[in-house]
Amino acid sequence: QAKEIGPNSVQFFNARISQQARAKFTLERELRRALDLQALDVFYQPIVSNNGYHLVGVEALVRWQHPDKGLLTPADFLPLAKSSNLIYQLDANVIQRVCRDIKDLEQHGIKMPKVSINLSAEQVRHPDLPCHIARWLDENHISGEQLEFEVIEDIVQHDSQQLMRSLQALVSLGPTLAIDDFGTGYSSLSRLKHLPFNKLKIDRSFVRDLPGNLQDCAIVQSIVALAKGLSMEVVVEGIETEEQRDWISRQNIDYLQGYFVGYPMPLERLRESFLSNAASA
Ligand code: C2E
Ligand code: MG
Ligand code: MG
Ligand code: MG
Repeated sequence: QAKEIGPNSVQFFNARISQQARAKFTLERELRRALDLQALDVFYQPIVSNNGYHLVGVEALVRWQHPDKGLLTPADFLPLAKSSNLIYQLDANVIQRVCRDIKDLEQHGIKMPKVSINLSAEQVRHPDLPCHIARWLDENHISGEQLEFEVIEDIVQHDSQQLMRSLQALVSLGPTLAIDDFGTGYSSLSRLKHLPFNKLKIDRSFVRDLPGNLQDCAIVQSIVALAKGLSMEVVVEGIETEEQRDWISRQNIDYLQGYFVGYPMPLERLRESFLSNAASA
């Protein structure tokens, strides 16, 4: 084995590192450019009521139509956006795009349901965020009540007066707040109580093995009990099968989301589905 660690393999190793570094560098440059051109896409995934499966909202999910690589999902570029300090600009792009899309639908006579936008921890902590959001809403004549912000549970850990102030500043603009991917972090429940969240989204890892896995059933039920005790609404995400949907329908859960309910789709598809529903109604 020692034989293989000769000068040649070191060279090979270096060559591979620099190739990876170059690929990353190129992707970063392309991402920067896409952000400057506001060229990222936003897909919308339906969220329905548990009571009658009516459309009550959509979640905005960023996508990047890359010239060579095709349609990229957040896993392909969010880590890079974070490590290269582009995440604030990315989230800013998404919020502005959502505002324009709400206007686009309005021009077609369609009222966009409430849009949930994911905020990164970096963005929530940014002192200028509330003032920027106020401006984007204003520029597009959009009322803050049309938006909801989703923040991952982890942020609650790094509790501080600062976080409390940031969240309150957001809420004062009209949007509601949801805790995303709940159950995967280690948020302190006593802190949760003091923060202005109205909604809790149960992470899809607890949904995958429902209803067969009794432990997951118990976890979901206890999260629901907790949320209800704190007067929060509950969303379950990642519903992929009818069995999962049926089990969840029998729980005290307010909203459902997942491929079984609807896939994330581009604005054009969302618009078409509204128009064809209106035509058939
Ligand atoms: P998330 O906020 O928990 O969003 C739900 C993710 O689950 C989305 O993945 C969605 O496509 C996927 N999903 C929905 N239903 C199902 C299902 O039934 N089965 C499975 N397997 N997956 C389902 P996506 O779009 O790849 O986004 C991944 C994550 O990236 C999001 O998780 C969110 O944390 C983050 N993200 C997405 N858009 C943005 C954004 O604009 N800004 C920031 N900061 N983060 C974003
Ligand atoms: Mg989310
Ligand atoms: Mg989630
Ligand atoms: Mg997630």
